[in-house]
Amino acid sequence: MHENIEDLTHLQKLETSTVLQCLRSRYKQKQFYTWAGPTLVALNPLKDVPGLYSKRMMELFAHESFTYKTPHVFALGQRTLRHLQWGLGKTHQAIVVNGESGAGKTCNALYLLSFFAAMETNNNEVPNSDNIEVLLCRSNPLLEALGNAQTLRNENSSRFGKLIRLVYIGEGANTQLVSAHIETYLLESTRVARQAAGERNFHIFYQMLAGLPESTKAELDLLNVPKWSIASERDCNAMDEAHFHVTVAALEQLSLEDTTQQLWKLLAALLHLGNVEFVVNKEANSWTTDQQNHLESAARLLGLNSNELFQLFTVRHFQAGSKSPAVVRPCSSQNECATRRDTLIKLLYRMTFDTVLENINRKLQHAVDSTFTIPKYLCILDLYGFESFEYGNSLEQLCINYANERLQYYFTVNYLKEQQLHLANEGLTAIKLDENALDKQNLISFLDGPVSVFGVLNEECYLNRGCDDSQVCIRIQSSLNERTRGVKSMPPSPRMPRSSKIKAPPVEFAISHYAGLVSYSTVAMLDKNRDYIPTEMVSALSKSRNYFVKLLLGKDALIVNATHTMNGRRHTVLAKFKNSLDNLMRILNVCDVHYIRCIRPSLSAPYYTTSPSQRWDEDYVDAQLNACGVIDTIKVSSFGYPIRMSHEEFASRYKYLSTKRPKESIEAIEICREITESYVQLQNEIRVGKSQMYATEKGIELAERWKFRI
Ligand code: ATP
Ligand code: MG
Repeated sequence: MHENIEDLTHLQKLETSTVLQCLRSRYKQKQFYTWAGPTLVALNPLKDVPGLYSKRMMELFAHESFTYKTPHVFALGQRTLRHLQWGLGKTHQAIVVNGESGAGKTCNALYLLSFFAAMETNNNEVPNSDNIEVLLCRSNPLLEALGNAQTLRNENSSRFGKLIRLVYIGEGANTQLVSAHIETYLLESTRVARQAAGERNFHIFYQMLAGLPESTKAELDLLNVPKWSIASERDCNAMDEAHFHVTVAALEQLSLEDTTQQLWKLLAALLHLGNVEFVVNKEANSWTTDQQNHLESAARLLGLNSNELFQLFTVRHFQAGSKSPAVVRPCSSQNECATRRDTLIKLLYRMTFDTVLENINRKLQHAVDSTFTIPKYLCILDLYGFESFEYGNSLEQLCINYANERLQYYFTVNYLKEQQLHLANEGLTAIKLDENALDKQNLISFLDGPVSVFGVLNEECYLNRGCDDSQVCIRIQSSLNERTRGVKSMPPSPRMPRSSKIKAPPVEFAISHYAGLVSYSTVAMLDKNRDYIPTEMVSALSKSRNYFVKLLLGKDALIVNATHTMNGRRHTVLAKFKNSLDNLMRILNVCDVHYIRCIRPSLSAPYYTTSPSQRWDEDYVDAQLNACGVIDTIKVSSFGYPIRMSHEEFASRYKYLSTKRPKESIEAIEICREITESYVQLQNEIRVGKSQMYATEKGIELAERWKFRI
């Protein structure tokens, strides 16, 4: 008989095999959530489960104080809200949802959001369409249309990271959601110009091609085009048209109707730009195109002159010094022209995404008068999961895996180590942790420290001395010292032709991440990191006759100005990403962090599988459980007391539970001891530490209940 219990920390034998057995048996019984102490493990059902997230469920978790012991995403939501309302732990709260691509992060984050929204709607007597919670839920389809795409692993994969910050004021039952903000991380903008085989561009392109009325398509020159190279109409699916109407409704509900027409215009321009190819005219030492119609359409929609637009792609500008005049020279290859075209496509898309997000944030933001009340934050973090492909892991994967490495380290240090040390210092039982888990700071500094992978890649971008892919790889390998743990050199890729005499130059290095060994390719990594945007491109856009393009650029003149460091160098992608992660960590540091670990039961997509047993791949689940530290969490959590408060606070809250007459001179710690010793049921649930009180949720719940009975 396998144990099937709701909290993995209650397993009699705590080891990977029993954890796996328990989860498998729960999965078969359609019990998709399980506690691992305070962490929630969420198994992906891979298809809709009737009733699992119904209104009735929300009400159950909202109103019946015991149900939050039942493992469910609403239970975690309810617990987090209680911490915020009752002021248990830190003032601010955060929920980190992680797991690999397709594991269910975004679905769980959305269920949380709808739960918090429902809690507010319950509070407000008359729900109003301007309420933050309503606006937040409405903005989601729009952000997904622009930032999600079909990949080989997930039909609706988020190609950006997202931190939703809900701002509350008030105390206890009067706590109220008053404002919100969405922060995004590293949109995968390379996708807009090129996609891997079997993958799609961002949803919005297909929605638009499937849903725009013929008259609008005619205005945008979208009719009778055999093929769009950046988003083939043949890849449209049955749902794109319906989703188009949802996106349009979201734009209207957020009062962004004006943006809507401009958005179609801009996206249509990108489709046209993608179709422009380049043909060399050797005699004239210049370039022409066979797709003049697409060039003209793109120029018209962007409010630019078509000749000038073409020049942006085919002519390079050099400037030796700030005072010397610019020298112009035709691009030397078709590839170079195409790269410049793609730079413009990516730039315009990124600016559009940022502008729509800025509009959404403007709607969500309500000024909070902090003179009378301290705003409290409840953050939900849905960051892309760890990624590793067989070939071609590049700068994008390096960033994604670096982010996961830092989050994992944060978890390990702040949760596991803290628990261990605290409990030991307080004279309470503690267990010994896996020291390897704590050693990962070394790896993070290998990635982002002064002598590191980021260091080499940034330095080569700043020096701009024409280092090739292989030289970069050798520098990374040597400067990181091959003997050092964590970084290894890789043999040449098996796809490279080998000769007995010529050894292929290395273009791959490998990093042993917490979730596994990943081999990165340095091919084109420097260019991606440099993310070079020719100044002449920005100045051409600034002269556009289309006010929307100017509006986009208004902010992104930033791209030219604010992205320069103090000494005049442009910030690289890695430098900007590290900076945004530093900020994220600062936010998490002031929060109580709750975790949802999403696990995907198998790699097969739901539509390929028939029976539930086919949907459970033991090795795959095992790897994910280890990668996200669930096993370590279980070990520590079984000793954990997640609620902490000072002796004074505990004594003042629960002094009525004391059986002795209150004496003026008695110390708070004595009152605490007296209460916990008087009630047998509290003894294991609430412990008196040297510096503060430690309690389980059950303990606090009992104390709260008895407090009112007395
Ligand atoms: P990515 O990192 O690629 O964005 P993700 O972890 O955000 O992946 P989701 O998009 O949330 O993954 O989930 C992938 C798919 O799994 C969903 O489209 C849905 O079909 C299914 N799924 C996930 N969670 C649930 C759930 N709780 N109930 C039903 N289906 C789910
Ligand atoms: Mg997602």
